[in-house]
Amino acid sequence: MRPMNADPLGGGKGPFVFNASRNRLLLSFLLACTALAAAEKSISPQARQLHQDSIVIDGHNDVTTWIVDCGFDLGMDGADPRKKNAELWWILGRFLPTPAGDELRTHTDLRRMIAGGLDAQFLSIFSDPRRFSGAEEAKGRALDMIEAVRRQVELHADRLELALGPDEIREASARGRIAILMGLEGGHAIANDLATLDLFYDLGVRYMTLTWSNTNDWADSSTDEQRHGGLTQFGREVIREMNRLGMIVDVSHASDDTFWDVVATTGAPIIASHSSARALVDVPRNMSDEMLRAVAASGGVVMVNFGGAFIDPRKAGTWNMLWDALLHLGPSSTPLSALLDHIDHVVHVAGVDSVGLGSDFDGTLFLPDEARDVAGFPAITAGLLERGHSAEDIRKILGENLLRAFGETEAVAAHLRMASTAQQGSLYVLSPDVSRGSLRAHLRCPGRGSPHGRGTPPDQGPGEQSTVGTLTRPAELPISGQRLDETGQSAMKFP
Ligand SMILES: [Zn+2]
Repeated sequence: MRPMNADPLGGGKGPFVFNASRNRLLLSFLLACTALAAAEKSISPQARQLHQDSIVIDGHNDVTTWIVDCGFDLGMDGADPRKKNAELWWILGRFLPTPAGDELRTHTDLRRMIAGGLDAQFLSIFSDPRRFSGAEEAKGRALDMIEAVRRQVELHADRLELALGPDEIREASARGRIAILMGLEGGHAIANDLATLDLFYDLGVRYMTLTWSNTNDWADSSTDEQRHGGLTQFGREVIREMNRLGMIVDVSHASDDTFWDVVATTGAPIIASHSSARALVDVPRNMSDEMLRAVAASGGVVMVNFGGAFIDPRKAGTWNMLWDALLHLGPSSTPLSALLDHIDHVVHVAGVDSVGLGSDFDGTLFLPDEARDVAGFPAITAGLLERGHSAEDIRKILGENLLRAFGETEAVAAHLRMASTAQQGSLYVLSPDVSRGSLRAHLRCPGRGSPHGRGTPPDQGPGEQSTVGTLTRPAELPISGQRLDETGQSAMKFP
């Protein structure tokens, strides 16, 4: 198995950190090197109005990791006043003490989500396999992250709502609140157990990337050893169970063979929650034109990743930290046009009904200057308008396409459940009890010298981690075991 000490295109899922009290000389030098002003896109009143009137959905955001590990709260201000150089501070931060809480610099916080006109955000439920290597550990970490998301929604109930389907996204938007949804990143977290998949669905997870950067026991990843030649037989069962549940099948991170096995297996639309176009940036994490067409044929959506390594050919496949830094110091910061080019390419190849946005904020680097955090979504609307897209098409790209694919996924599930109920009579769906021991939610902030996503996994650096707090579970997680009503729908709604 290839070593996974680099997240080839994910940028390493790192917080953006700055601590000016250390090494001021180095900071001053770097500041001088990067004194270019951050680009600000002017947004016309027409673009602002269109953006405000649209449902804006982002398919992938990794701020959950920093909430769980470092005590970040969406109510904190994670903005970096230096903007353009956030990545540089992130890299620099690897050599400085790791900050926590409101010292963290992030792409995401509540204030900027509102400024960005966001209506719905999928938050990533991610168990880093380098830190949580066993099946039970990965599952326990995912449960901790789900709990953290739910707590954020509770804490900010005036602004956020947990949403489980497209109707709830529209309802939250109508109430002026942001819908929070959960997507599981990496099928290894289901611990090779369909009942665990059911449990995650019951807890509110609405999509799952079949793999992360790691090949798991039933699906090959695009950036790891090809062990199965795609999906195993169990992997196909996972797809069918996701179809039955109404959990969206997400092919971001999956290998090409896995992708084509999904196409042959799924009865519901496929999404790529954070991938871009391979024809423009030739990396395995992006989608070939054939794959784009196949997603379109499934009724699904390719939600374009904003990260420079995905959208800027000059940064394709670069993840060496020093090289990344040099690229960023030079005149080659990622332009917004690169992101718009990928959207246009998917429109051209797959059609305007198959494009969406999947920023990968707080999980990737080298973002376009004008859309470098969650406040940047209006710049995309403005850019698409300038390129001549109609208001109707822009609304599709911003969110309507995902709402449609999500609705179709639910319809397929309802149909499958009804057919199953008709065949078997009343169904009683049982999920296993959760190992309570795995639910301890210690907030750990990886320590200095243990960068996220690269190098030594934080949990393996003896004496190098700092526990910044311990969370006591506020309530029992609801355990499934619910009756299906006569329509085949779950009688128990997620609380
Ligand atoms: Zn990812």
